Amino acid sequence: MRLVFKFGGTSVDGGERIKHVANIISNYSKEHQIIAVISAMGDTTDLLIDMAEKAKRGKEKSVNEIFKKIEDRHLKALDTCINKIDLKKSIKEKVEVILQELNRVLMGIIQLRELTPRSKDYVLSFGERLSTLLVWGSLRDIGIDAEYFTGKDVGIVTDSNYGEAKPLMDATKHLVRERLEPILIKGSIPVVTGFIGADQDGVITTLGRGGSDYTATILGAALNADEVWLWTDVDGLMTADPRIVKSARTLDVISYLEAIEMAIFGAKGMHPRALEPVMEASIPVRVRNTFNLNNFGTLITKDVKIDSSRVVKAINLVRNVALINITGPSMVGGFGTAARIFEILARNGVNIMMISQSVSESSISIVIRKDMLNRAVNSLEVNLLGSGLVKEVTWEDNICAIAVIGSGMRGTPGVAARVFKAVASKGINVKMIAQGSSELSISFVVKDVDGDEAIRALHDEFKLAENI
Ligand code: ADP
Ligand code: ASP
Ligand code: MG
Repeated sequence: MRLVFKFGGTSVDGGERIKHVANIISNYSKEHQIIAVISAMGDTTDLLIDMAEKAKRGKEKSVNEIFKKIEDRHLKALDTCINKIDLKKSIKEKVEVILQELNRVLMGIIQLRELTPRSKDYVLSFGERLSTLLVWGSLRDIGIDAEYFTGKDVGIVTDSNYGEAKPLMDATKHLVRERLEPILIKGSIPVVTGFIGADQDGVITTLGRGGSDYTATILGAALNADEVWLWTDVDGLMTADPRIVKSARTLDVISYLEAIEMAIFGAKGMHPRALEPVMEASIPVRVRNTFNLNNFGTLITKDVKIDSSRVVKAINLVRNVALINITGPSMVGGFGTAARIFEILARNGVNIMMISQSVSESSISIVIRKDMLNRAVNSLEVNLLGSGLVKEVTWEDNICAIAVIGSGMRGTPGVAARVFKAVASKGINVKMIAQGSSELSISFVVKDVDGDEAIRALHDEFKLAENI
C-alpha cells in the first residue's frame, strides 16, 4: 500500500522519540511505500509565535532566551537520534545554518519593530524545518534511503492568506506528483515538513494551526495514497478530550463528516479543513497512537453504519472563542440583515463558527475565534451602526462552545431535550444555541468556567464511557 504517515509534535519531542518514529517508518517501509510528514517538536510553534511577538516589541533579551531554548532542544535531540559521527556532523551543520537564518530574521524584526503576517509565517516555518531534518537524519542513521523536503520544495502551492493559507489543489497535485513519484519509484522515502507551503510567488506560507494534518492529506490526495495515518499521542479520536473526561473511549470508526465536525470543535487539534482533500478522493484516514502500537486507532471513512443505540458519538469543546450579539428592533423583518452581517465578516476574513437568530428576529448571535474579535466587532460597527438596521453590537469573550456530535441524531427526536436537561441539572446557564442544518451536531455556548463540567455531564448522560 501507499501510505502517508504524519507524526505530531509530541511524537517527535526528543531524541528517543525521534528514533522511535524512525523505527516505525522503517518497519512499515518493508511492506509499504511511505511518505512521512513531520510536525515541529513539542510546543516549538507556540515558542516561535511568542518569540516573534516579543521581537516585534523589541524585547531582545526574551527573544534570545526563547531562541536558546529552541536551539538546545534541537541540538540535544540531534545528539540522541543520530549515532554515526559523520552524519551527525553534517546534520548539525544544516541545523546550525537554519538556526542562523532564524536568528537573522528575528534581528530584522527587532530592528524594524514590525511583524507582518508574511514574516510571521516565515518565522513559524522554522519549527517544521528543524524537526524534519532530525527525523530524516535519524532514518538515514539506521540505513533507510530517505530524502528531505520542505512543503515548498515538494510543491504545495497556496494562496497568499498568510497564517491560514489554502492549497491550490490543481497546481499542488501536479507538482507533488512530478517531484515525489520518481523518489517513490526508486524506493526512497520522502520526509516532508508539515504545516508549510509557498504562494505563487514562492513566499513561504503556513496552513493554519494543526496544519501538518492538512499537509498529510494534501499529499495523500496528490499521490493517490491508499490511506493517511495521523500518528499522535492518544489512541485515536475519542468520545471526549481525555484531559477533561478520564473515562473517554476511543472510537473505532467514524465518518468524514462526523470527524470534520469534531475537528471544528477542537478534537485532537486537527485542522478543520484537513479532511477535505481525502474526503473528495475517498481515501481513509487512521488516527493512531505513536506510543501504543498495539492499538489500531480510529478509522475515518465514508460509509459508516448508523448505530441506533449510539446517536451521540462524541462531545467536544472549543475554547478561545467569542460571542458577538447584534441587536436592533429594525432587524425584525429587516430583509437581508443577516446576509449583510455575513458578507461584512467574510470580506474581513472572519470565519463564523456558529450562528443563531432569536425568534423575535431582534438579535443575531455569532461565535468566532477569539483572536478575530477586534477585527469582527470593528468591521461590524463601522458598517452597520449608521445603517439604522442595527442598534448595538456587544460581545463576550469568557465563553466556550460545546458540540454534541453524531450522525445518528438525524431524525432521532429528543436528543436536544436530553442535552439541555443534562446541562441544566448542573446549574449551568446556556447562553446561545446554534441552528444546525446538518443535524450532525447540536452546539451551544456556556461560560468558560462551566465548560468541563458540562462536557462531563453530557458524557455521562449519553453513557459514552460504556462499550455497547
Ligand atoms: P498532534 O501533535 O499529534 O497533532 P494534538 O496535540 O494536535 O496532536 O492533538 C492531540 C490531543 O488532542 C490529545 O492529546 C488530546 O488531549 C486532544 N483531544 C481533544 N479532544 C479530543 C478527542 N475528542 N479525541 C482525541 N483527542 C482529543
Ligand atoms: N506545528 C504546527 C502547529 O503547532 C502544525 C502542527 O503541528 O500540525 O500548529
Ligand atoms: Mg495537531
